Amino acid sequence: MIVADSIPIIRPDVLYHEVEHDVRGVLASGILTSGRHVADFEKAVADFVGVDHAVATTSATTALHLSLVALGVEQGDEVLVPDFTFPATANAVIQTGATPVFVDSGIGDFSMDPESAAMHISDRTRVIMPVDPFGQPADHLALARLADDVGARLVVDAACSLGATRDDRRCGAHGNMGCFSFHPRKVVTCGEGGMVTTDDRDLAERLRLLRNHGAAKKSTPGLEFVEPGFNYRLSEIPAVLGLSQMRRIDQILLDRRTTAHRYDGALSQVLGVSVHKTPPCATWSYQSYVVVIDSGLNRDAVIAKMAEADIETTIGTYACHQNPAYATWCQDPAEFPNSALFADQSLTLPLVPSMTTGQVERVVEALVTIVEDM
Ligand SMILES: *Cc1c(COP(=O)(O)O)cnc(C)c1O
Repeated sequence: MIVADSIPIIRPDVLYHEVEHDVRGVLASGILTSGRHVADFEKAVADFVGVDHAVATTSATTALHLSLVALGVEQGDEVLVPDFTFPATANAVIQTGATPVFVDSGIGDFSMDPESAAMHISDRTRVIMPVDPFGQPADHLALARLADDVGARLVVDAACSLGATRDDRRCGAHGNMGCFSFHPRKVVTCGEGGMVTTDDRDLAERLRLLRNHGAAKKSTPGLEFVEPGFNYRLSEIPAVLGLSQMRRIDQILLDRRTTAHRYDGALSQVLGVSVHKTPPCATWSYQSYVVVIDSGLNRDAVIAKMAEADIETTIGTYACHQNPAYATWCQDPAEFPNSALFADQSLTLPLVPSMTTGQVERVVEALVTIVEDM
């Protein structure tokens, strides 16, 4: 009997020979916290995204928190967030003392629905904070118009969307700020890391100040603490890892899109499985390849059966309103029908670097057999 290798959801695309020289250099220099490599990494991401400034942080979660604090978001303010997201988006809002206002997804679209968002705008709305789920950009034009109408800001949780585009802009360049993640589940990884991107020089300066304890340089020795800040600094070795992947980011994205399009082709006619289509104004980064299993079928049983075939799959992501942490802010589950459907029925398939057609076929065949038997 031939035993097939197991197929994981994702594999970090870090190559030892690409980082060895710089990691040795960092260790030899003794500069382990933020230094030259962090600055180079920031420049590489800013140039790639097409913005003037990028500020590296320890994670997307701290990037989101820093962005909101930089805008002065505080208790009494409201921030619109999607219900269907990794809950770090909502946590960052709650940590500022502001109120998260959860918004449903669209039909056949994982991201924040602009029409639902419009219904939740109030005179306390300070920020609209959409997510680009799995690297599928939200409708930032519509959401920016909505924000402009009421004098609110647009901060994008772009944790998954490095390299995706919508309306001729790369993700991270929509709205006032974009926040990336470099967690191992993302397109580029540092192990842990994040970054805020912006075209606003004053905001970038404030992000840098708050990232480093709120401390500014003085002409005399020592620092001046201008306001209470945080330590959200990225350090050098993670920056070396991130930078090594930014040097071949086009190749990384091409590889992910090639695999995704193979899946699209193989799954387009499969009963019980639906695949969302890229709108003509967008390109996706495919941080994850996510399908939706029909409501009559048990998604969790699909995950268990795929595991028996040595294929790792998982849920898409969470509906915040289904989690006790957010009960205070989500009184009525009936408000989130699309998000609830996606949370219950979405399924992430493996998308590893250089995935072979044979691996894609094996995943598709297993999925088709399992769904047919249900
Ligand atoms: C991964 C993710 C985060 C959290 O990123 P970290 O870098 O782990 O803090 C936040 N939002 C979304 C949408 C994510 O997918």
